[in-house]
Amino acid sequence: MIKVYNFSAGPAMLPGDVLEKIKKEFLNWKKIGLSITEISHRSDIFTKNTIIIEQDLRDLLNVPKDYHVLFCHGGARGQFSAVPMNLLTDFPKPDYINSGFWSYNAILEAQKYCKPNIINVQKLSSSKKKYVENMNNWKLSSFYTYVHYCPNETLEGLEIFEEPQIKNKVFVGDFSSTLFSRKIDIKKYGIIYACAQKNIGPAGITIVIVNKNLLNNKKKSIPSIFNYSLLAQTKSMFNTPTTFSWYAAGLVLKWMKKKGGISKLEELNKKKAKILYQYIDTTDFYKNSIKHSHRSRMNVIFHLKIKKLTDLFIKEAQKIGLWGLKGHSVVGGLRASIYNAMPLKGVETLIRFMRIFEKKFG
Ligand SMILES: *Cc1c(COP(=O)(O)O)cnc(C)c1O
Repeated sequence: MIKVYNFSAGPAMLPGDVLEKIKKEFLNWKKIGLSITEISHRSDIFTKNTIIIEQDLRDLLNVPKDYHVLFCHGGARGQFSAVPMNLLTDFPKPDYINSGFWSYNAILEAQKYCKPNIINVQKLSSSKKKYVENMNNWKLSSFYTYVHYCPNETLEGLEIFEEPQIKNKVFVGDFSSTLFSRKIDIKKYGIIYACAQKNIGPAGITIVIVNKNLLNNKKKSIPSIFNYSLLAQTKSMFNTPTTFSWYAAGLVLKWMKKKGGISKLEELNKKKAKILYQYIDTTDFYKNSIKHSHRSRMNVIFHLKIKKLTDLFIKEAQKIGLWGLKGHSVVGGLRASIYNAMPLKGVETLIRFMRIFEKKFG
C-alpha cells in the first residue's frame, strides 16, 4: 500500500496515532468491555473523560476562567444562527465583516434575525493580489455591538493574522479552519467557535468558547440546543451529545499536547506553508493570487497557468497517494489544506510531485 496524504479541506486528515488508538480501543474502551459508541453520555466514565478533554483544551489555548467551553451540535453553520440568537437582545445591529465565502454565509444566516451592518474588506492590490483591509480601517458602526468575522477563509486561502484591539466591541470569530494552528489571545474575543473536522477531529462536534458575561439567561426564544446558558448549565449535555466525535476530539487534543502544544505546532505550520508558497513563487507554472501578508497557513490555494491541466494534475496526484487537492467548486483551481495533522513530509512529497508534473507538462 502506498502512503496516502490527505490534503482535503474537511473532513480532513487525522493524526495516524489517533486513528490507531481509536482502532485499538474501539471495541473495548478503557477495558470495560464496551465500545465508546455504546456508552451513556451520563455515565461516570464518559463524563469524567469530558472533564479531561475540556481541561486539555483550556491548557492548549490558555482559556481564561471567565470563559465557558461548550461542545455543541450543528457545525459552524449552526453557530451562524446561534451567535445572533444568543447575542441579539443586547446588541441590535451587529457588524458583519465580509472577507469571503464563509463570512458571507454567516451574513446570510444572520440576516434572518437582524439587519447586520455589512463591511466588505476583501481588496485587490495594484498587482491583482487579494488581501484583507487592515482591521483599523474596518468601518465599524458606532453602536455598542458585536463584530463577526472569519480569521481564515478556507475557500479563498485568505487569513487574517491581526487580532482585534478595538475596545467596546465584542468580537466573534469563526475559527473553524485555524483554531489550534497558531497562538491566539482568547481575551480579545467574546466568542470563538470552530467545527471539528478541520483541526480538531471527526465531524460532529463544534467547539464554542464564550465569555460568561455574554450569557443571557432570560432569553426564552432561543432553541434549547443552541442556548449557550443552558448548554453551560448542563455541561453541554442538554441532549445526547455526539459522543464519538467528542471522545475523538479528546484524543486529538492529547496528541497536540504530546507534540509540544500550540507554539510547536505553529512553528511547524509556518514551515510547511513557507516551503509550499516558496515553491509556488519560484515557478510560473503554478500561481497563488493572495498577498503575502494574508496567505493562509492552513489552506494553500493555487492554480495552474495552463488551466486545462487541472483535472490531470488531480488525477496524477491521487495515483501516487496525494488526495483532496481539488479546489472548492466556488473558486476552482487547486487547494492543499495542511492542517496540524499534515506532516512536513506530506508537504515535501506534494512539492516533489508538483516539480515532476511541471517538468512533464510545463
Ligand atoms: C468548514 C467551515 C465552515 C462550515 O462548517 P460546518 O461544520 O460544515 O457547518 C464554516 N466556516 C469555516 C471558516 C469553515 O472552514
